[in-house]
Amino acid sequence: MDGKIRLSGMIHESLVNGPGIRRVFFSQGCTHNCKGCFNKETHSFYGGEEFLMDKLIEDVRINPIISGITFSGGDPMEQADKFSYMAKKFRELNLSIWCYTGYTFEALMDKVEEDNNIKELLYNIDVLIDGRFCEENQVEGLKYRGSSNQRVIDIKKTLSSGEVSLYIE
Ligand code: SF4
Repeated sequence: MDGKIRLSGMIHESLVNGPGIRRVFFSQGCTHNCKGCFNKETHSFYGGEEFLMDKLIEDVRINPIISGITFSGGDPMEQADKFSYMAKKFRELNLSIWCYTGYTFEALMDKVEEDNNIKELLYNIDVLIDGRFCEENQVEGLKYRGSSNQRVIDIKKTLSSGEVSLYIE
């Protein structure tokens, strides 16, 4: 690994991408092509900009106001090797970690046997917001997601019990 991650952007202090004040990292690259996606510029795997991960982590470490981290996209699962590295480092800083993905939890579990990076990422986050954005299921005012098919999953409880456990309904 070259120590760099490709991002489409960041929000330094967000109040809307999970509880508390969060640093949000938007991954560059997504294959889902959801109809009505409002982040189309994040789809190319060549767009955005590369950042040194250790520098991103250090910048969070020295900012005591940050209480959590959110990985969004794009789809962070397409760079699971990079995001799992970051997740492990942020866990060492006792930060809560949320991750968005266009894959369903079940589709990711089908991949974990062959893709250790996805497994490592799943096991090092607290909350997974899963599934593609579906224009048909778009509901105004949904907390933390755009369409009602997406779930805000308590991934720790889910992985230990084997049953999907929601963080919020
Ligand atoms: S998963 Fe997200 S970024 Fe990717 S196409 Fe769907 S809405 Fe857009």
